Amino acid sequence: MGLDEHMHDVVVVGGGIVGLATAREILHRRPGTDVLLVEKEVEVAQHQSGHNSGVIHAGVYYAPGSLKARFCREGAARTRDYCTEKRIPFSDTGKLVVATNPAEVQWLDELTERARTNGLTVTPLTADALREREPHITGLAALHVAATGITDYPAVCRALASDISAAGGVVRTSTAVTAIAESAASVTLTLAENGWETVESARKVIVCAGLQADRLAAMSGLNQGANAFQIVPFRGEYYRLPDTRHDLIDALIYPVPDPEMPFLGVHLTRTIDGGITVGPNAVLGFSREGYRKGSISLRDVASLARFPGMWQVARTHWRTGLAEQRDSLRSQGYLDLVRRYCPELTVDDLLPEPAGIRAQAVLRDGTLVHDFLIRRTDRTTHVCNAPSPAATSAFPIAEHIVDLAEVAT
Ligand SMILES: Cc1cc2nc3c(=O)[nH]c(=O)nc-3n(C[C@H](O)[C@H](O)[C@H](O)COP(=O)(O)OP(=O)(O)OC[C@H]3O[C@@H](n4cnc5c(N)ncnc54)[C@H](O)[C@@H]3O)c2cc1C
Repeated sequence: MGLDEHMHDVVVVGGGIVGLATAREILHRRPGTDVLLVEKEVEVAQHQSGHNSGVIHAGVYYAPGSLKARFCREGAARTRDYCTEKRIPFSDTGKLVVATNPAEVQWLDELTERARTNGLTVTPLTADALREREPHITGLAALHVAATGITDYPAVCRALASDISAAGGVVRTSTAVTAIAESAASVTLTLAENGWETVESARKVIVCAGLQADRLAAMSGLNQGANAFQIVPFRGEYYRLPDTRHDLIDALIYPVPDPEMPFLGVHLTRTIDGGITVGPNAVLGFSREGYRKGSISLRDVASLARFPGMWQVARTHWRTGLAEQRDSLRSQGYLDLVRRYCPELTVDDLLPEPAGIRAQAVLRDGTLVHDFLIRRTDRTTHVCNAPSPAATSAFPIAEHIVDLAEVAT
């Protein structure tokens, strides 16, 4: 690097909620730090942070004592405080987890214990109490979780971007990182910006690239051999209920999740604009950023096919995978999942709604990573897996990343 070239203190890659909260946290801790955030899309929150269920999770499911459990509780409170401060709408809807068969009733009992150990106030409901609370929902038993809410995460992301700019940082959109080169003294990023190639240097780089996390980690030599991981895109397809159904539910309605899978099952979610969405399912995607049904990216399919862990996932979860593909193609199949707890819905109630795509890290041996996964070199910190509820937990996750990266101490 020449003497006249500028070196940033920190470059953050990725304008999703995790990257934005991280850049803001650095500037909050150490005002005056030279922070540049680069995002390849024209605006922030164009991927997972802008295509999700909008739920402020309470932290029912996560192993007591785990980072995920702590981050979720703290994150939910911090998200509400931030929304209040920035006048972003949020609502404390509460949620019901509904068991519809005896095996689920047993698992619901375990979830009740887990939620209490995680410090949540939850109320078990009998079938009659459930019907009294939610007349359109049926089940053998349910668990009411008061601390669940909803908000507008794209609005949260836009507010975070404004905070970064107001604190002297720079948010540069339409700028993709295409190469990372690290030396003893700095990190050089090659950037593609409106057809031009530029470079930027930084003392430290923090990468929060969601669906592209494995490719960025590979650029830092952090995704090789036995340590290799792959981002597998799981499409989350939604429907929206018609206006006539908007008084169908009071709280959010969730099934009891499959403990083997990192997804929560097709739920009924009230949205901040007054609507109700149905979904998301979890279908293997053939394009990481292709939101239309049937989207295929040859590059993404080829990297799935080459990755040994993917074949292991296929062997272990082929039954669930096939059922998800079938229900994705037949709206009747999808509807059957919801009718287990809301029998009065019909196919005509399922109106089209855009899908979201989850970035799910899978290890070489086929393990689906349920928790956060962060890898580091001397000067780079890569967030390799930031699954749900990372939108809820963004503020404490950002603190954790800034601690690990040692950028504002
Ligand atoms: C269907 C669905 C439902 C969900 N529901 C909830 C929920 O209700 N509540 C909750 O708490 N969580 C939910 N989640 C999870 C949550 O949305 C994500 O965990 C969170 O948004 C992850 O944020 P992120 O910043 O890591 O990723 P992203 O939001 O995906 O951001 C990554 C960013 O990096 C950018 N990027 C990638 N490569 C490059 C590059 N080379 N150069 C520059 N920029 C790059 C991308 O363009 C993108 O903007 C859901 C997720 C999905 C998909």
